[in-house]
Amino acid sequence: HLILGIETSCDDTGCAVLDFDGTILGESLYSQHLFHLMNGGIIPPLARDLHRMHIETVVHQAVKESGLCFNDLSAISVTTEPGLPMSLSIGTKYGKYLCRHYKKPFIPIHHMKAHALTARMVKRDLEFPYLVLLVSGGHCLLAIAKSADDFLLLGEVIDNAPGEIMDKIARRLKLKNLREYSVLSGGRAMEVAASKADNPLEFEFATPLMHYRNCNFSFAGLHNKVTRTIITEEKKYNVAPDQVLPSVNNICAGFLLSITRHLCHRIQRAMEFIDARNLILPQHRILVMSGGVACNNIIPQGIEIICNEFGYKLVRPPPKLCTDNGVMIAWNGVERWKAKVGVLQNFDHVDYNKCSPIGESIIEEVT
Ligand code: ATP
Ligand code: FE
Repeated sequence: HLILGIETSCDDTGCAVLDFDGTILGESLYSQHLFHLMNGGIIPPLARDLHRMHIETVVHQAVKESGLCFNDLSAISVTTEPGLPMSLSIGTKYGKYLCRHYKKPFIPIHHMKAHALTARMVKRDLEFPYLVLLVSGGHCLLAIAKSADDFLLLGEVIDNAPGEIMDKIARRLKLKNLREYSVLSGGRAMEVAASKADNPLEFEFATPLMHYRNCNFSFAGLHNKVTRTIITEEKKYNVAPDQVLPSVNNICAGFLLSITRHLCHRIQRAMEFIDARNLILPQHRILVMSGGVACNNIIPQGIEIICNEFGYKLVRPPPKLCTDNGVMIAWNGVERWKAKVGVLQNFDHVDYNKCSPIGESIIEEVT
């Protein structure tokens, strides 16, 4: 059995062909990153047009690399939610067209579940249930993955996601004016800058939501505090409009430390909750961290400490599988095919504007 996966939820056009063991037979990725970096953010109609321009090439490249043809496929899986509706529409329409043309079943994929399930492709013996932390450009959430389709949401971000905020702060810090950072994502640029800090404790930002006993996240207040610090520093050093602050590395380090503390605090809550309810057997304790921000190597150093304390093993897929890609969508297709859920022969009704939550959520406080 072979599954083709198509991803176009945001600014990456991705495609891959996988067999049922998770062997990648062909893959291709076109990133719009540099366009959006030039524009200072994603412009949805531009993202849609770039997907439209590249999708056919990307899909054909992946199939060609696999040495197979479309008729060999068992099904085609496509990200249908969540994401930018204009971007999603291109993958969904193209996927439906291929399914009709080659008479294949269509498997709609939830992008965040795909981020969460990729770990099972990387670590074949990873069994359900496991705890998962997804941190990316648009999301931050803690959930228990109970099966390929069944997730229990423990908490999520109530304002802006960390990736989005890192991209904004990196822009505010004018990091891309420095040649070594010019093509990096905001999150990666901040990570490299933070690693060069001579005094990581120069700027201490309070940890958000310290007094709330649940698993939700908030980063908007932290974003404001960092912005105010940048303004104060700019006045102090009287920097020119295109000049980068001399204290930039320490600011990035202080910011990353605060994010790490917040994530750790929430993970700890989740682990205590799991303990109290006996939701995951002690011998099966795995925390999967995925999504673009999981590429960061500083944040997991803090998370490892919590994991050790509670007897969890931290699993992070390699960076290229943490950011958006076609492989994770094809793998989620494999998972759904095996579990016999959501494999559609009739898919005309499948919409790309709907945006359902990752799964059932906990309403009570996670205490
Ligand atoms: P979502 O998955 O929520 O729809 P997305 O698809 O835009 O969001 P991803 O591709 O999963 O996001 O992740 C992109 C984000 O990851 C960007 O905000 C980027 O700054 C961030 N990122 C990438 N590398 C790093 C890193 N090394 N450290 C921190 N953040 C990073
Ligand atoms: Fe993503």
